[in-house]
Amino acid sequence: MSPREHLRRFLRPKAHDSRLVEQAPAVAALEIVRRFWPFARPYKKWIFLGLALLIAVPAIDALEIYLFKLVVDDVLVPREVAALVPIALAYLGLALLGAVLSFGDDYVATWVGERFLLDVRAHLYAHVQRLSADQLDRRRVGDLLARLTGDVSAIERFLLSALAEGVSAIAKIVFFAAALFILSWKLALAALVVAPAFYLVSRRFIGLVKHAAREKRRRSGSLTAVAEESLNAAQLTQTLNRQGAEVQRFRTENAAIMDAEMASTRISGLFGPLVGFIELLGGLLVLALGVWALSSGDLTLGGLLVFITYLAQLYSPIRSLGQMGNDVFAAAAGAERVLELLDEHPAVVDRPHARPLSRPVAGLVELRGVTYTHPGAAVPALRDVSLCVRPGELVALTGPSGAGKSTLSRLLVRFGDPQAGAVALDGHDVRDITLASLRENVGLLLQDTYLPDLSAREAIAQGREGATDAEVEQAARAAGVHDVLAALPEGYDAPIGPGGRRLSGGQRRRLAIARAFVRDTPVLVLDEPTTGLDEGARDRLLEPLRALMAGRTTVVITHDPAVIAWADRVLELRDGALIDPARAL
Ligand code: ADP
Repeated sequence: MSPREHLRRFLRPKAHDSRLVEQAPAVAALEIVRRFWPFARPYKKWIFLGLALLIAVPAIDALEIYLFKLVVDDVLVPREVAALVPIALAYLGLALLGAVLSFGDDYVATWVGERFLLDVRAHLYAHVQRLSADQLDRRRVGDLLARLTGDVSAIERFLLSALAEGVSAIAKIVFFAAALFILSWKLALAALVVAPAFYLVSRRFIGLVKHAAREKRRRSGSLTAVAEESLNAAQLTQTLNRQGAEVQRFRTENAAIMDAEMASTRISGLFGPLVGFIELLGGLLVLALGVWALSSGDLTLGGLLVFITYLAQLYSPIRSLGQMGNDVFAAAAGAERVLELLDEHPAVVDRPHARPLSRPVAGLVELRGVTYTHPGAAVPALRDVSLCVRPGELVALTGPSGAGKSTLSRLLVRFGDPQAGAVALDGHDVRDITLASLRENVGLLLQDTYLPDLSAREAIAQGREGATDAEVEQAARAAGVHDVLAALPEGYDAPIGPGGRRLSGGQRRRLAIARAFVRDTPVLVLDEPTTGLDEGARDRLLEPLRALMAGRTTVVITHDPAVIAWADRVLELRDGALIDPARAL
């Protein structure tokens, strides 16, 4: 292996079998600016004000340093105390002005940055909410969270902080370099010989820094994804005695992050001292030349001292421009991940001419030759399925696991659109109806009910905006949870805990039924409403369920004999097709 290859190996993170989160496609910096600048545009005035303040700060620094020349040449060398007074006053004035400006600059920059973050996050979150359930299923929640939080901050750093840092560094370079030339152009030229060398060194490392930064971000997405997944399934993990394996998985992801971190450290570890060495060489060279300039009368003692000070000050902005590469690439990596998410078009959207349905509909539900393949799946989950459920009818859907029952039920609320055929409600293709009005008419009750951490009252009232307390209570009575809630010390205001964990499984289901009562959709789709409960809880659920279904067009996935007994028709699905297609019409 060549020494070059050795170095390359040393600097790159080890390849890890971490394939959890795909690397987002690379996006050019200009593209990122183009896409996210619109979020910053409303604050343009403030951004320019911030930049103006930012430029003023190093100008004041330069003046302050210049005062030191006057101290040496007019006060110290001639030992003239009186001359100190105006200089001291100037120092105080500049310090005060500097403090005011840097406060203003900090304040404006933070305000703009936070507003930008707020806007981008809200936009991204709204976008995520528009994605279809299928699309969200394919993504990992932890990864989505990382994109919404850290990656969005990275864009802010890329667009605003990096801009500010860059402008500030360039302003410093301009002011300090100008001061050098004003003091002694010959010495200044000599001193700046080292700058190009410095630039070349930094360029060489930027590619590596970029790679390390992207790898770091990608791997941290994987870590949150793994932790999120396994913590979500904590009970399952423990019952399966898989804690060890989960810890190992977490460890692997962590080790991958560590490797990326170490690689990035190796890069900066090499880069930093190298830069320091070049600085030192330059400094010594300048000092030697400076002594010569002093003896030839080209510079005063004060002039030489501030020259060296300016020069030292010049390195830091140059260095920060170089290091900015690091931040900018980390930020760009975040931006790429956000863009990848933003560019995922919602699979299910209102057609341009979609009309709202006037509710309530009669409740005629049809599948017309529906074929549906889940995104990424090899075979269709439903093949040419036709089905007609008449208003008020109760159809039970049975069949083995994987037959396509859930897929069918989700198509009725348009979590996805079939590749062939159509789903229709009251004779309208559901794609010609606005999504909002479709979902106002067709309710879906899942086995795993989503219950946010609210009070029982709020959770039930979520069924419909503006539901009154009386309606909530009536629904709770109909669902058979009124007695349970009324017996609680806080009554209906009792918090139900995240995911409704403070309630028993059966109570959660009945709460969900109460919510469905409040929602009061003419069409109802239920996915295994009685599965997974003990016998007592199931029995208590039957009556409320029956009451809920009464008078509504209902499609219920079930294997429960009691529910099947109520059904007007029982249809069986197998391998994505109906066993008896004629019965379905
Ligand atoms: P059932 O409800 O009858 O158990 P499903 O409708 O859940 O059946 O699944 C039908 C088929 O579609 C299965 O082969 C399943 O693997 C597949 N499937 C279900 N959901 C998805 C998904 N989100 N992505 C890819 N394939 C899926």
